[in-house]
Amino acid sequence: MKCPICKTDLVITGSERLETICEHVSDPNGSVHKKDVFQCPNNNCKANEYGAVWEESGEFFTYNMSWDRDKELEKCFIGENNGPFGTISRRLNVEIYKCGLKNKVYYSPILTFWLLKPYKEYWYKANKDGEILKSGWKIKFLKKGHGNKGYYIGWISGIHMFKYVLREYKRKKESFKKAESEFLSKSIVKIVEKAKKDDRWWYKWFYYHLLIFENNTINQAKKINHEKNS
Ligand SMILES: [Zn+2]
Repeated sequence: MKCPICKTDLVITGSERLETICEHVSDPNGSVHKKDVFQCPNNNCKANEYGAVWEESGEFFTYNMSWDRDKELEKCFIGENNGPFGTISRRLNVEIYKCGLKNKVYYSPILTFWLLKPYKEYWYKANKDGEILKSGWKIKFLKKGHGNKGYYIGWISGIHMFKYVLREYKRKKESFKKAESEFLSKSIVKIVEKAKKDDRWWYKWFYYHLLIFENNTINQAKKINHEKNS
């Protein structure tokens, strides 16, 4: 692994009880194991001067460092990423923490007539050197919480829900086509009945879709269901 400031190979300078995020999450009160401490050997590097420390997976520790020095060091890291080159930490700093990268852009709720707050969320795939291999974005929405105090609840669009119920229906239909059992015919009939009663617009769409394109399957299911029950 290489220093995220000067790219010199880091060297082991001792061992310390450093608690990694992974350890803290899996066992917050557990004992912290001793780990090899990696430091930058380059005398002209700020990481060396301030005694910056990393552990094996590249997690950065600021023990023994003043707040001022910590802040100053932050500005020196290449790509605002404190993970050494060639470590999983450098990759996660890009993919999860989106260090030095665009993360979310919020838009005005006017665009949705104040119903929802739209935002664009960026995603990245990176390698252990923090280089971006793939990236993209998705539009997501927040809806208002109780009492109209701002937008904070994640909202799934009706289109997504429509696609979801349709996918679930198609899965059931596949199994029904393979084995025309009473149980499967019943579940198809149930889906149709639920779609007929539900008032949400995407359920209405789904119901019309069933009427137009799935008539044969539904009639078949109803027939089997009726035969078994009569
Ligand atoms: Zn260095």
